[in-house]
Amino acid sequence: MNINNIYIQDIRAICNNTLNISILRADLIDPVVSGNKWFKLQFYVRDAIEAGKATLATFGGPYSNHIVATSKYGATKGLQTVGFIRGEKPTNLSPTLTDAIQNGMTLHFISRADFLDQQKIMQEYTHENWAWIPEGGYGITGAEGASTLLTIKDTHTFDTIICAVGTGTMMAGIIKAAAPHQKIIGISVLKNNVSINTEIKALLTPEESKKNFEIIHGYDFGGYAKHTPALIHFMNDCYKNFELPLDFVYTAKLLYSVQDLASNGKFAPTSNILLIHSGGLQGNRSFKKGTLLF
Ligand SMILES: *Cc1c(COP(=O)(O)O)cnc(C)c1O
Repeated sequence: MNINNIYIQDIRAICNNTLNISILRADLIDPVVSGNKWFKLQFYVRDAIEAGKATLATFGGPYSNHIVATSKYGATKGLQTVGFIRGEKPTNLSPTLTDAIQNGMTLHFISRADFLDQQKIMQEYTHENWAWIPEGGYGITGAEGASTLLTIKDTHTFDTIICAVGTGTMMAGIIKAAAPHQKIIGISVLKNNVSINTEIKALLTPEESKKNFEIIHGYDFGGYAKHTPALIHFMNDCYKNFELPLDFVYTAKLLYSVQDLASNGKFAPTSNILLIHSGGLQGNRSFKKGTLLF
């Protein structure tokens, strides 16, 4: 993992050069550990070490960027890691879970029904003295970690910052770090996620809640991790034309939405827009070989 690999790429060509659009390439810190997951984890890991914990425990699905990131982050800090995985153990493990095991993570497979009650799972293991990290890194600690995304490079010249939204932790962090002249836009990748505004505000102080931000719905392509041939086509075009590899769960939907919103006049011609490439590329390994050009 190397934070120095991150840079800001000019991608104004995605809107025929009509707007200033750039993207913060946080995906480049590591080929497997997704950009934003590393940022969200950093203070959970720091707190665990300070509390003298030897093990990180967390939850996620079989293709989870958060699971694989936790396994690697823990390993680099000399911590044990435990992952509670949604669903029965499959005959063939996903590349994500194979990587997690290679990084030393112990996996527990939990039925979809039992996975809903994560409090109960945590209670069953209280005797272990593990440091628990919420699924997806959701929490104020995660948001504080994500807020440092805006300080690795000089981002104050941008007046609009746009990111993908799952749990909303990254967006909450960016809102925390935003300057008064900056508007934060989040593109929800979940279908009709009406509670997301409340979940983001739960991570903000009352002052931060008054900052300028907006969540846009309708670019989920059918729901979380759903995709269409048009989305795959778009991903291949972005790679061919702008040397921009995207993941199908988050960043492809982010870029697609920005192109669409731009063509519908959402942004003032003078705006200076920064997108966050939050990583997630490892998840593309769930596609059949040859689907993507990268
Ligand atoms: C998890 C993830 C997100 C969403 O982050 P949240 O903090 O859960 O909203 C966005 N992009 C990528 C690549 C991710 O892995």
